[in-house]
Amino acid sequence: MTERLRIAIQKSGRLSDGSMELLKNCGLKVSRGKDRLYGRVQEMPIDVMLLRDDDIPEFVADQACDIGIVGENVFEEDRLGGAREDAAEEVMRLGFARCRLMIAGPKEWDYDGPAHLNGMRIATSYPGLTQAWLEREGAAAKPVMMKGSVEVAPRLKVADAVCDIVSTGATLDANGLKPVATVFSSQALLIRNKEPFPTEKQTIFDALIKRINGVITSRDAKYVMMNAPRTAVEAITEYLPGADAPTVLDLVGAPDKVAIHAVCRESVFWDQLEELKKLGASAILVLPIEKMMA
Ligand code: ATP
Ligand code: ZN
Repeated sequence: MTERLRIAIQKSGRLSDGSMELLKNCGLKVSRGKDRLYGRVQEMPIDVMLLRDDDIPEFVADQACDIGIVGENVFEEDRLGGAREDAAEEVMRLGFARCRLMIAGPKEWDYDGPAHLNGMRIATSYPGLTQAWLEREGAAAKPVMMKGSVEVAPRLKVADAVCDIVSTGATLDANGLKPVATVFSSQALLIRNKEPFPTEKQTIFDALIKRINGVITSRDAKYVMMNAPRTAVEAITEYLPGADAPTVLDLVGAPDKVAIHAVCRESVFWDQLEELKKLGASAILVLPIEKMMA
């Protein structure tokens, strides 16, 4: 039997769409089994396990899965919880599911820094991350563990403040709270078991990582084309964001002008296009890049 690499992703929630899309962009189609807890990839020897996000670090640590995609917040909290000899390790950040863990308190608060929290109880599902931040900032407050509905704690008088994941702030607002400080910034993270993989599995892992790197680097990358005076080539090359060695082509019937084609590894914004125009560029085109492999 050939080895298959097992990857754990969130079954349904704020990480699942991004995780599925990443696999899809790597050219992998996941066909889900009847029970929907298990998926199989045709294109590569990879199996997908669909789990609650909180279980993913443990499954990867226990070798039930080889790799997994989980929020940095959950991974760090699990590590700070310290039940295990950290048997899963980070491979890379994946650039989606960005969110912040924030301290929030009553709207009427006059927050002027962490010392404001002295003596308070802070309701949170992330006591480890909260405690670590309080210690780092020298605030003498105490995290109070709550599994869900953290934002109602101040109204119920079980806590004075909360430390919770914030995206728009609407939930906090509806509960009379406002965010005052960022405790942790998170995004999706690829993790793996610490033990070396057997050769066959390592080969699958390497191939997958290569594809993921390709997806991540091409995500913001753009193919930029423009015409420009021959004399401006150097200035334009220097200006283009993240481009190395652009292609310069002659234009028929216009000896003073050239076409410049370049891959820009960072986003290209309107003000940068205006800047290029000032340098003499015309007929500027910015095209998306679907795939890229170094
Ligand atoms: P599960 O049922 O799997 O336990 P959950 O309810 O614990 O799911 P979700 O709300 O789906 O978790 O969030 C999963 C992860 O997505 C969080 O741990 C965090 O890393 C990230 N996340 C949370 N809120 C947001 C948000 N508003 N925007 C982007 N990412 C977020
Ligand atoms: Zn969860």
